[in-house]
Amino acid sequence: MLEYALIFWAGGSVIKIHEYQSKELLANFGVPVPKGRVASSPEEVAEICRELGGTAVVKAQVYAGGRGKAGGVKLVNSPEEGVEYARGLLGTRLVTVQTGPEGVPVQRVLVEEPAQVERELYLALTVDRSAQGPVFIASAAGGMEIEEVAETQPEAIAREGVDIAVGLQAFQARRIARGLGLDAGQQRSAARIMAAMYKLFMERDLTLIEINPLVVSKDGSLVAVDAKVSLEDDALFRNKDFSDWRDPEQETPLEVEASEYGIAYVKLDGSVGCLVNGAGLAMATMDLVRGAGATPANFLDVGGGADEAKVAKAVNIMLSDPDVESILVNIFGGILRSDIVARGIVRAYDETKSEIPLTIRLQGVQVDEARAVLDESGLQVSFAETLLDVEARLAESLG
Ligand code: GDP
Ligand code: MN
Repeated sequence: MLEYALIFWAGGSVIKIHEYQSKELLANFGVPVPKGRVASSPEEVAEICRELGGTAVVKAQVYAGGRGKAGGVKLVNSPEEGVEYARGLLGTRLVTVQTGPEGVPVQRVLVEEPAQVERELYLALTVDRSAQGPVFIASAAGGMEIEEVAETQPEAIAREGVDIAVGLQAFQARRIARGLGLDAGQQRSAARIMAAMYKLFMERDLTLIEINPLVVSKDGSLVAVDAKVSLEDDALFRNKDFSDWRDPEQETPLEVEASEYGIAYVKLDGSVGCLVNGAGLAMATMDLVRGAGATPANFLDVGGGADEAKVAKAVNIMLSDPDVESILVNIFGGILRSDIVARGIVRAYDETKSEIPLTIRLQGVQVDEARAVLDESGLQVSFAETLLDVEARLAESLG
């Protein structure tokens, strides 16, 4: 189940933004964040360090977590030290456990007043697909090891679903805050933070707000030391600032290309490129690929309104993914006619002269014409008449 959730949640349908932008949103809704600013040159870093009184935390701004362990977060004790660190970081690529080996470019750093850390908590708000509503996720074991905690001590992570008809209730916020081991005053601050997160989440159509760590400072105050906010891309039209904030350099070239053509693209780590239309068919396709003893390299969803050029583009993107050893097309031709799909596939194979094996299960409108187009093209296509036929044919293509 997690894998399906991953496809439609972490994939092309989620708009990411930088930490400094996430914190700006949180601050606007009343969540305390450290004082600081973003910088794109060592000189600016020095200036902000001086404003903050000398010491500062300098943090790489990239669309990936795990920066702390990868050398992308540093406490500096003087403007000079800040400059030196920023010189070594800006313009390089940061590789963390959440990036590929090629890493992501660091073009900006966030320079902030250091928090005086007493404890590090985890507090997130996301969508629980099975409960069909928002859910708070909280743990007293926040910080850099949270993924490990989730695996080894799942009981250390609390979940609290919210009924959107009534919103976050005071008793729920109290229950979460108590579970975090906070004293009475801190429980009230935590409840205010949760109320602000919920308001932001609902007003801005978010899919995720993750604060990790939410720091309990030595003076007892709470502050969001790291934050990540993601938006549902279907809601971009009424969240224009997210489009302006979008940083294509943080995305892989294939992701950028796909989004330019309005194609939903999700990269996975298997060997079968999957061209589908619609989320339901994508899930079924995932099972079929599994049944053939393989795993998907990617999913491309061209949607209903695609034309031949868009289908060709999607197939082109798949063919340029070095992990793809075989392509599976599983499309039900409706609004998107089968013959258009066929013409797009033929065009992409013509353009690239690719010899990657092709398994096609195509049903629906104009399917006979689609077959004729593919037959005439001379492409080596293995046709699956039904879904049940797909597994065997795909397995065969993989040898
Ligand atoms: P991530 O590794 O990409 O999640 O980056 P974070 O911003 O979460 O930073 C990683 C870790 O650095 C945090 O869990 C903290 O332990 C530490 N850290 C970050 N900012 C501060 C700070 O202002 N003060 C202190 N003492 N530690 C910090
Ligand atoms: Mn973090």
